[in-house]
Amino acid sequence: MLIDNHNRIINYLRLAVTDRCNLRCNYCMPAEGINFAKKEMLLSLEELCLLSTRMSHLGIDKIRITGGEPFVRKDLMDLLCHLSQLEGLKDISITTNATLIGPHIDRLKELGIRNINVSLDAIQRETFERITRRDQYDTVYNNLFRLITEGFNVRVNFIVLDKQNTQDILPILELQKEYPVSIRFLEEMPFNGGSRNFDKIRWTYKKILEYITTAYPDYRKLPSPDTSTSINYKIKGHQGSFGLIPSFSRTFCGSCNRLRITATGDVITCLYGKAKLNVRDIIRGPNREEQLEAAIRKAIGNRESTGFEAQRAHADVFENSMTSIGG
Ligand code: SAM
Repeated sequence: MLIDNHNRIINYLRLAVTDRCNLRCNYCMPAEGINFAKKEMLLSLEELCLLSTRMSHLGIDKIRITGGEPFVRKDLMDLLCHLSQLEGLKDISITTNATLIGPHIDRLKELGIRNINVSLDAIQRETFERITRRDQYDTVYNNLFRLITEGFNVRVNFIVLDKQNTQDILPILELQKEYPVSIRFLEEMPFNGGSRNFDKIRWTYKKILEYITTAYPDYRKLPSPDTSTSINYKIKGHQGSFGLIPSFSRTFCGSCNRLRITATGDVITCLYGKAKLNVRDIIRGPNREEQLEAAIRKAIGNRESTGFEAQRAHADVFENSMTSIGG
């Protein structure tokens, strides 16, 4: 089992498989992209398989595959096949922008991978194309509806962006009225690779809830696991639910059970901190399994207690883009 220096059990790994993305969401990175990692700096399929196997032996029982856009990686399904055979893993999930997932939906079902988070910050075409700077609206909505209607457990993650997509908040809630899907509204964070000025957020989770209440006053709070980052609600008579994620307000750090490993092998023990170590060279060196375990335990034994503490220790952390961190 992995336990950090604040007595929190770490059982959830967010594993990024690439830093590249086929969208250019304006709150995530500049239009021209960022300085993407060279191929040899990325963990190979074999290295990702070894890493995930070792992490599951150490006590990780949930892995979320993220990126960049995970489906830009040609060998992604091979990795997912490997994960599906790891006995210790109870939950394999994927975070995707839903542009490239279509041809893989049947195989995902065969592998028993059902938990898909779709990042989607718009319901109107104009909002979507303006934010993503790409023409993928129809593909994304077709894939989203396929996932929902073919029985996947779908959560839509919608980043609330001041003056950009707040007019889409109430319309996108219509989706969970008709379908068993969760629409989760997240606070924006300053990890945008320098594409936007960010001093403070106007759309906090409290303000988002107040706004939703004006249209839907009749909702109840749903029970959520202690380690959940979202506060979840059900509107009377609706099929699905909605949630709020205070990702910038950071109300959930006390029960954080997460570890992040980026596509280049950086180990990040807090989203608001810098990498504690890099496992790529360890995996490429001698005695890799023992060295890896020792390094991971050391990083976890040296975690900040909250995102605020981590941010204070790393003044330049906001120069990062979420496409390198994995969200
Ligand atoms: N490409 C995949 C996707 O779209 O879900 C995975 C990677 S993406 C970087 C992961 C998540 O980070 C997405 O939900 C995205 O909206 C979110 N994200 C990116 N930049 C962000 C920012 N500055 N603030 C809050 N969330 C951000």
